[in-house]
Amino acid sequence: MKLHLRGHHLLCLKGFQGYGYDESFTENMTEVNAMRKSENATVTLTNSPDDICRACPNLKNGLCVDEAENSRIIRMDNEVLKKLDIEKEYDAQELFEKIDELFNSKESVSEICFNCRWHEKCLFYQKLSNNR
Ligand code: SF4
Repeated sequence: MKLHLRGHHLLCLKGFQGYGYDESFTENMTEVNAMRKSENATVTLTNSPDDICRACPNLKNGLCVDEAENSRIIRMDNEVLKKLDIEKEYDAQELFEKIDELFNSKESVSEICFNCRWHEKCLFYQKLSNNR
């Protein structure tokens, strides 16, 4: 199965523990999170609406909330994508292992996660915080 994911969602998926904006968002994210762990799943990368955004109540006319918020989200995506190959179709399990290697300290996610409202619910961010 093929997943299409925006850069910063690679970190969100690692930290996901069942919280979301509404029921359909959470159901979809739970499915995507299960898919990315399955054998033979592949991931292509983007900095635009993806397989998680498609069930999100914040997605309006192809933008996350509004122009300003959308620009902020794209900057977060690009912070992740600049360390990866956006042209490549990744094996999902290898990609998420690579994410663990690339983002292994609180500093490494400072431009991506510091202003996120899900800090306290995010297992990935909490783990990096506790490693300090
Ligand atoms: S639309 Fe925005 S808030 Fe919703 S999943 Fe996509 S990036 Fe996140």
